[in-house]
Amino acid sequence: DYFLEKCTYFVGKEPKEVKIRNMKNWGNCRKDKRVTLNLKLAKKPPICTEYVLIHELCHLIEFNHGPRFKALMDNFCPNWREIKKLLNEEQ
Ligand SMILES: [Zn+2]
Repeated sequence: DYFLEKCTYFVGKEPKEVKIRNMKNWGNCRKDKRVTLNLKLAKKPPICTEYVLIHELCHLIEFNHGPRFKALMDNFCPNWREIKKLLNEEQ
């Protein structure tokens, strides 16, 4: 899909599989490179899907949320902090 192509291009990493389903978190990335996105993202502005996807793809480079991870996010999605706020604001 369009987002996946765009985000894969940005981050330079390709997940093995992307699934969309109902879940607690917005996204999930496993060590075997399988990414899951929350179905509810469909009701959010498209930028939110992009943010979550970039976040999960960054986990293919850096598996934690440390300073290096944040540097990657700043690089690929400079306004990720605002998008994260937007995402967690309204339900
Ligand atoms: Zn994460």
